[in-house]
Amino acid sequence: MAPAVQLAQWRLARPAPPRPRRARRYSAAVAAAARSEVLSIREALRQRSRTAAETAAEWLDRLRAAEPAVRSFLFVEEAERVLNQAEEADRAARRGAAPAPLAGVLVAVKDNICTADMPSTGGSRILEGYRPAYDATAVRKLRRSGAIVVGKTNLDEFGMGSSTEGSGFHATANPWDLARVPGGSSGGSAAAVAARQCVVALGSDTGGSVRQPASFCGVVGVKPTYGRVSRFGLMAYASSLDAIGCFGSSVLDSAAVLGVISGHDRLDSTSSTRDVPDYVSGLISVDAMSSKPLKGTRIGMIRETLGEGVDSEIISSIRAAATHLEELGAIISEVSLPSFDLGLPAYYILASSESSSNLSRYDGVRYGKQVPEDELASLYGSSRANGFGSEVKMRILMGTYALSAGYYDAYYKRAQQVRTIVQKSFKDALAENDILISPAAPTAAYLIGEKVNDPLAMYAGDIMTVNVNLAGLPALVVPCGFVGGNSPLPVGLQMIGAAFDEGRLFKVGHIFEQTLKGLSFVPPTVLQQASAPVS
Ligand code: GLN
Repeated sequence: MAPAVQLAQWRLARPAPPRPRRARRYSAAVAAAARSEVLSIREALRQRSRTAAETAAEWLDRLRAAEPAVRSFLFVEEAERVLNQAEEADRAARRGAAPAPLAGVLVAVKDNICTADMPSTGGSRILEGYRPAYDATAVRKLRRSGAIVVGKTNLDEFGMGSSTEGSGFHATANPWDLARVPGGSSGGSAAAVAARQCVVALGSDTGGSVRQPASFCGVVGVKPTYGRVSRFGLMAYASSLDAIGCFGSSVLDSAAVLGVISGHDRLDSTSSTRDVPDYVSGLISVDAMSSKPLKGTRIGMIRETLGEGVDSEIISSIRAAATHLEELGAIISEVSLPSFDLGLPAYYILASSESSSNLSRYDGVRYGKQVPEDELASLYGSSRANGFGSEVKMRILMGTYALSAGYYDAYYKRAQQVRTIVQKSFKDALAENDILISPAAPTAAYLIGEKVNDPLAMYAGDIMTVNVNLAGLPALVVPCGFVGGNSPLPVGLQMIGAAFDEGRLFKVGHIFEQTLKGLSFVPPTVLQQASAPVS
């Protein structure tokens, strides 16, 4: 079904008005890049053309078929429990009830986000077997909106990493090329959406962990403004930077999920009391508008993100995306963020410092697997030595060092000063531009094992994303092209907005993806599976 029709039905819950006939030059590309799974599931339920149980069974089949190769999940819910929840949605539909916004939508949840009825390990051995007594607020809101949690996805331990190789359990593969990483730390969620193992997924983004894997896996990822989504039930990594975000295979699907999980929560005093706009109804189909749908939108290309240290093919893709936005009517200019390169060291000092404090709760007594010892101090020591992986230990050491008396002023305090400068430079750039664009990562997905023994190279890959967390701003990543010729790998375009301006990012992203002529971001592994004979 055309997105124009789907959108109208989301808004009005009744048949769409006839579509205008003019400006149809983009319509052929619309189906490929901007198909909304969420709206088609909802529409099928509404029209009773396909039951939620049938839809769930189809997604579950794909989840199971892909899982041995991709390994996106740390826990998969029993099929029977998923189908029971889908049947509940079907019973409501038979009673004539209007489907809930995410009725019958299978969602995967990053395993550092608590779920009451499923394990929640944060990707760490120290929490193996832990089942929280409650749902994170974002999960509670998803379930209340009809979504069905299908499982918990893999991640770098406690979100510390950029490839998912730092999971305490196993690595995850990139569905575009199984020898490559899916990115991280929310690599399991990104891979699961890319492999069509679930409709949408939750991730967390402290320094890029939603956006970089979205780029590596060719899916849409959104990191909202700090405080837009409650962090209650998210295992804290760096509390002043952490944000729950989401993945979808279209902008519309990501917008639908963000709309549901956003809003104030009395259980998180940093969550914002601002109203949550209806992100989905703000999206416009290009069929219904002029051929210059972005007329007047001021877009700044961040100069520092398109130079040294960035793969030339990535730079070309982002420049091509800028030209495309210009053809759609946007006014493109180059903008300089002089403090851009300072963001990375400041981020690693602040994130490690906060993590050294946050992770002190895993001591084998309050939280975490206990290694019994006669002395309490050795019990703490052995439990932590045994439960944490090496990257986490390194971050705790770095953070403790940066916070210690005598070094605090030289590291932590200076990093906070840099943070203020970064915030100001974004403010200035966003006073002159509606949105800023950059790559989401300096490279496409790299080989598993390539950077695992070189932490500094791994950290350097976060250069495009960490500044946005320091400034607390929202950013959306939309697939924009491919690199790599014969075996193509996706590239994502990062769009950064002013605080609480997610709605504008979705609007621009939605227009952009609808007009990506002929590009399809379905990985070959999924296409092969779809064409394989049913056994
Ligand atoms: N790769 C970054 C880090 O290791 C960001 C991680 C994240 O956003 N959770 O800290």
